[in-house]
Amino acid sequence: MTDLAAEPLARAVGTKTAKALAGLGLETVEDLLRHYPRRYEEPGRFTDLAHLTAGEHVTVLAKVAHVSRRRAASGSTWVLTATVTDGHARLTLTFFPRQARAAAYLEHRLQVGQSGLFTGTVARYRGDLQLVHPDFLTFDDVDAEAAALVEAAKPMPVYGASAAIPSWKIQQAVRTVLDPLTEDDLPDPLPEEVRQAERLPGLVEALRGLHRPHDDPEWRRARARVRFEEAFVLQAALARRRAAVAHLAATPRPARPLGLLAAFDAALPFPLTAGQRVVGAEIGEDLALPHPMQRLLQGEVGSGKTVVALRAMLQVVDAGGQAALLAPTEVLAAQHLRSIRALMGPLAEAGMLGGAETGTRVALLTGSQSTTARRAALLEVASGAAGIVVGTHALLGEAVQFADLGLVVVDEQHRFGVEQRDALRAKADGVPHVLVMTATPIPRTVAMTTFGDLEVSTLREVPAGRTPVTTHVVPADNEAWLDRVWARAREEVASGHRVYVVCPRISGDEGPAGVEDDPGEDLADDDGRPGPEGGGPGARGPALAAVVDVVEQVRRRPELAGVAVGVLHGRLAAEEKDRVMAAFAAGEVGVLVATTVIEVGVDVPEATMMVVLDADRFGLSQLHQLRGRVGRGSSPGLCLLVSHAAPDTPAGERLAALAATADGFALATLDLRQRREGDVLGAAQSGRASSLRLLRVIEDADVIARAREVAGRVIDADPDLTAHPALAAAIDRWLGAEREEFLARS
Ligand code: ADP
Ligand code: MG
Repeated sequence: MTDLAAEPLARAVGTKTAKALAGLGLETVEDLLRHYPRRYEEPGRFTDLAHLTAGEHVTVLAKVAHVSRRRAASGSTWVLTATVTDGHARLTLTFFPRQARAAAYLEHRLQVGQSGLFTGTVARYRGDLQLVHPDFLTFDDVDAEAAALVEAAKPMPVYGASAAIPSWKIQQAVRTVLDPLTEDDLPDPLPEEVRQAERLPGLVEALRGLHRPHDDPEWRRARARVRFEEAFVLQAALARRRAAVAHLAATPRPARPLGLLAAFDAALPFPLTAGQRVVGAEIGEDLALPHPMQRLLQGEVGSGKTVVALRAMLQVVDAGGQAALLAPTEVLAAQHLRSIRALMGPLAEAGMLGGAETGTRVALLTGSQSTTARRAALLEVASGAAGIVVGTHALLGEAVQFADLGLVVVDEQHRFGVEQRDALRAKADGVPHVLVMTATPIPRTVAMTTFGDLEVSTLREVPAGRTPVTTHVVPADNEAWLDRVWARAREEVASGHRVYVVCPRISGDEGPAGVEDDPGEDLADDDGRPGPEGGGPGARGPALAAVVDVVEQVRRRPELAGVAVGVLHGRLAAEEKDRVMAAFAAGEVGVLVATTVIEVGVDVPEATMMVVLDADRFGLSQLHQLRGRVGRGSSPGLCLLVSHAAPDTPAGERLAALAATADGFALATLDLRQRREGDVLGAAQSGRASSLRLLRVIEDADVIARAREVAGRVIDADPDLTAHPALAAAIDRWLGAEREEFLARS
């Protein structure tokens, strides 16, 4: 293997070009070869000039329609204007040559009827669009006439370029490195047998097809191959990670008849859903194996993931181990503690008066605990008295020692990276089993991409007897409707229910985004990004609803006279949050005005109504998650989305879609389609932008599924990749990029 691929560009294309390419992030020969064309122009078919917008950097294929030259008013320079056309719309090119000779030369190159590529930043001047001093290449510039004719019949690659280097200079540089390239210079990460089975061209052939196609089918074939390669390398990396952990030894934690789990099941006030039983069995079998479980549990909002996780924890306790439940925020940790204790009843009170003999204890570890409480908890954890430990990131701290950690449950996975999972794993003597739970349903291929190192269990159904939440969009400027909203809130509280009011901001003096930006581990709403169309300051008329203002308004509403109104957001102290949530759960507070801290997991069965203010500022999945907070008990839920967005805008349409469907998987797919690729994979994945160039997570679902299957087989047959060094190298590069990204974030 040569190092040609890693060779710095300066040697291959000269320092000047290399410097310009470096501005595009291209440092090595391989970087350049992997800088794929954005699109292909058909020679003879011109770019549609009617759709250019000012400020855009463009390369257009057009024909010169008119040229004129005059002296500038100042007399010191010339002004040369050319008009180019696609046959319909026109675009002006303006040059200011200093000397007559330069002006004449330009005029000579830009003869009427001549076609070529013109590149520059579109500017608006007196109502017309123009390019000032564009770089250009006319077809006459191509050396030999014969070559020009042949070239002219081929699709012309157009590259993502910059002001420093136009598309065709990139094309020339690519050719310089591509022409002498052989298969030995650039080993193919796709194994030969995979290429044959999938009928895909080799890497060098594909690169030629992408950069110098003879016809459209050639670049399409090449692009399909590179997409598959991206999916394959990613899936091979994940399969390897899976295999590496699967080969580790873990203590088997088989179910014990007549143990804690059996006692728990016998006392459960409701029957498990069919999904809970199936998934529970999958997990139960995994736990009994001598290899660590690595499973993702995803489910529809309200599908009852907590009970499934708790039953897994109890199986481990039955087998003599401990289980840790890691929550992303203190609010959630506290709530998990409450609901686990409530579900377990006397089974959670071992050693206490009235506690069950078969029982265990449930400890809580968070960052804001008092020293005394923390010490007591640490002791219960270290001695093994606590079979179940619930906590936040504080669980990862060095002082925390487990007697025998057998299972780690990570709640709401999207806030924990692979590395944090690894850190927790390191807490156990052996390797613990790991169960990851996500709050949001994830489309299958996204799960395969972002959590591809995990097996996936899915809970689709919600427990029977629960009516779906009714959702309506309420126009924010309709006073009569708003009066009705508060009157309804009153009715709910009067009949013993609770009402959430959700705002995009804490206070009016913050930045514009619908993000609660306070630091600290209690940032429950770091997903509270504004919707895709969220604008900057002043991007919209009315100021966004803020908790501190709304709470005052709500308290003043005549409809709500006498109703206790509480406040919850990430800037409150931990005890205050606990106090408010407990008061809300107990009914002492009827209406809770909050930010998205209540987004995930908060479970108050008596909550029946939610009012989301400026609802268009939230993402679809987030709104679905939010409305999952109501209708969790036996009474039906109502969710009102208050918004200024007109029904025929994209924002209005998103809200209508939400009102029309209760299927979180469908909404997640819709949500992802509307976002940019970087956002699709989440912040944690943006580092993969460097490795995922052509692959699109939603559209290329088939490719990803196929690649996963094939990659799994390759890794099974050759776990160390001794026979596949090029694949091993590609995986290392991918992992390196991912690790760097992680370090940059932490
Ligand atoms: P999520 O999957 O959204 O985390 P939870 O685990 O919080 O959902 O469960 C939602 C509510 O449903 C809880 O109050 C829980 O006790 C209840 N629940 C769970 N499983 C069942 C079931 N099989 N039948 C009835 N209620 C259930
Ligand atoms: Mg939950």
